[in-house]
Amino acid sequence: MAEKISITVDGPAGSGKSTISKLIAEKLNILHLDTGAMYRAVALSALDRGISVSDVLAVESMLKGLSIAVTYDNGIQRIFVNGVDVMGRIRTAEVSKAASDIAVIPAVRVKLVEIQRQLSKSLSLIIDGRDIGSYVLPNADYKFYITADPEERAKRRLKEQQSKGLEIEKTLAEMTQEIISRDKTDSTREFAPLVCADNALYIDTTKMTIEQVVSTVLNAIQKVKK
Ligand code: C5P
Repeated sequence: MAEKISITVDGPAGSGKSTISKLIAEKLNILHLDTGAMYRAVALSALDRGISVSDVLAVESMLKGLSIAVTYDNGIQRIFVNGVDVMGRIRTAEVSKAASDIAVIPAVRVKLVEIQRQLSKSLSLIIDGRDIGSYVLPNADYKFYITADPEERAKRRLKEQQSKGLEIEKTLAEMTQEIISRDKTDSTREFAPLVCADNALYIDTTKMTIEQVVSTVLNAIQKVKK
């Protein structure tokens, strides 16, 4: 694609946003920005420093000393916190929970949203998150909201962990509960909650394959494109 474009993909935990966004980025030859990874990086920083993610003042003070840089290495997103690449440490269950909790704090969101908006000014991006179409880039060219039933999302998460050879520590019921609880935190927070943005295409992927979702998104982009 020659002209600069922005595509937003929002949705709850485990909906497949990142997988879909990565594939679309490859097809369109643009970059993928996973904003969840940015919240995870801030959460990891708090955990590393022994700071409680619900202690707003301590988190605000930590943020003042954090320099967060998002870069691309051969098209792959990397996040550096104070010069250290944290990508290898942000996918644990502990960081998932902490990210959801720390994302409630407005100062955290303000800092990360600023970086996301700056990146989208200079790069063609497909950005996935919770509030991208509704808050970060309300004027994006194309907007999508991807979701699925909580149990289906839990099944996908467990399958993903299995395929990565990770130890399965939770039953399907426990994983479903964890997902429902993260949905609740994400959609009930006051500042920039998880919502389907106005004029976003809503896709329920419960009974769809990844390929079907990717082609639904690509078809919608082709249709809107003049
Ligand atoms: O998408 P992922 O599960 O990696 O996101 C981790 C957490 O970061 C989410 O549970 C959510 O609370 C938060 N998040 C957010 N806004 C975004 C992206 C992620 O609040 N744009």
